[in-house]
Amino acid sequence: MARYVFITGGVVSSLGKGLASAALGALLQARGYTVRLRKLDPYLNVDPGTMSPTQHGEVFVTDDGAETDLDLGHYERFTGKAASKQDNITTGRIYQDIIAKERRGDYLGGTVQVIPHVTDAIKTFVREGNEGVDFVLVEIGGTVGDIEGLPFFEAIRQLGNDLPRGDAIYIHLTLLPWIPSAGELKTKPTQHSVKELRSIGIQPDILLCRCDRPIPPEERRKLGLFCNVRESAVIEARDVDTIYDVPEAYHREGLDTEVLRAFGIEPGEAPDLARWRNVTHRVKNPEGEVTIAIVGKYTGLKDAYKSLSEALAHGGIANTVKVNVDWIESEIFENEDPAPFLEHVHGILVPGGFGQRGAEGKIRAATFARERKVPYLGICFGMQMAVIEAARNLAGIPDANSTEFGPTTEPLVGLMTEWTRGNALEARRADGDLGGTMRLGAYDARLKRGSKVAEIYGSEDISERHRHRYEVNTAYRERLEANGLVFSGMSPDGLLPEIVEYEDHPWFVGVQFHPELKSRPFEPHPLFASFVTAALAQSRLV
Ligand code: GLN
Repeated sequence: MARYVFITGGVVSSLGKGLASAALGALLQARGYTVRLRKLDPYLNVDPGTMSPTQHGEVFVTDDGAETDLDLGHYERFTGKAASKQDNITTGRIYQDIIAKERRGDYLGGTVQVIPHVTDAIKTFVREGNEGVDFVLVEIGGTVGDIEGLPFFEAIRQLGNDLPRGDAIYIHLTLLPWIPSAGELKTKPTQHSVKELRSIGIQPDILLCRCDRPIPPEERRKLGLFCNVRESAVIEARDVDTIYDVPEAYHREGLDTEVLRAFGIEPGEAPDLARWRNVTHRVKNPEGEVTIAIVGKYTGLKDAYKSLSEALAHGGIANTVKVNVDWIESEIFENEDPAPFLEHVHGILVPGGFGQRGAEGKIRAATFARERKVPYLGICFGMQMAVIEAARNLAGIPDANSTEFGPTTEPLVGLMTEWTRGNALEARRADGDLGGTMRLGAYDARLKRGSKVAEIYGSEDISERHRHRYEVNTAYRERLEANGLVFSGMSPDGLLPEIVEYEDHPWFVGVQFHPELKSRPFEPHPLFASFVTAALAQSRLV
């Protein structure tokens, strides 16, 4: 039978609840247990797919095609286990199901209510599909006290009674702010937060306290006393240099031992953290450094490119170098010459994106990379812009464009209306819904024998995660290939371009998928590892 750890947050948001959950998952795994991590998001969107990356951060895509919260990216990177559609749920999705049932007449005669119908739906979701898992870690989005979070807190409270005694525990993540004028770490916000939690019937077993310095014994005692937890269960979660330090740091503070004790399990042998030590050793002892320019449009919020910056760091780990990132807003290149911004960098990365704003700037970045022979990695939108660049400047098609920006006479990139998934046909209409209708999730691709990407992957068959509505138009393939842009990866039916590359360039690759979603610190993605190697070679030239 699975045991459940519910992880809630208090005081302020952005304390790293997702990371803390992921790190606890990694620690339990390192003790030989199987884990599953799941996220309950109280907002009303059915999924984050239609939310702006500058508001909500990156949309993480699973193999089975769900658009989910970026915390699932942390879960995957820390546990190495691929998440699924069933690992993230929102209020929107729960209500969508309940209302559909109500319309069908499933509740005929009954009044449909938050308690028990919504809470039951949450509980069913949490308990489903956990066979063979030792620990299910369930993170609740937002902070205690949020109105929209109430049904979720109520559901996890009820689960504490529904499950056999001792099979569920609660961890509360809070902040101990340092007040310089008083010279003290303050416990009051945590006391209030726990009071709030207890007022809705949840007594935390463990407090995970974010702070920037050690918790003095007196404060620890106070927290234990006023929050009704054992002093040993007040865990100091101090700021660390790299996020990959978190599992070890929390282990040193006793998080995994306290969790096991709360379940009545004697901790036994220490967890095997060798793979984490290897990662952090490489991060902290780089033998060189490279600078990569990320030319994007959501550069104001770093969370918008979470997996991407992690994957670049993994590329650095693979090469034992530090990867510095220059974040550049692509719109700048629409009025200014890119050269002064890009001349000193060792690689240029144009990430995924949507809409016309900044597109011309990305095209100019691609021109710079191609002409100056600077390593270039174009991801999804970044590949599409590289193809338009090639069409305009090499193949003599000055009006080359994407139909994403409106009607065009030269649709190098066009709306995808039909494609196959395995043996099934997927179809979309131009005027259809925006939510959940892209080409989403893992699709296979065949790589061209002898191509650079086949060499990088060490294979001619790959599977990568997708999230796009437009595709490179194969009607232009011959003209582009005649000018050196090789279509080196295609969907298995040969209809959809997946990868393009230049033969006569040190490293220029455009991919229609998102390789960053599958990179792990202990298993860096081959494209990122190779891109950083190329950047390292470039750094020796400039
Ligand atoms: N906007 C482009 C499309 O929908 C690219 C999407 C992306 O970069 N993820 O095809």
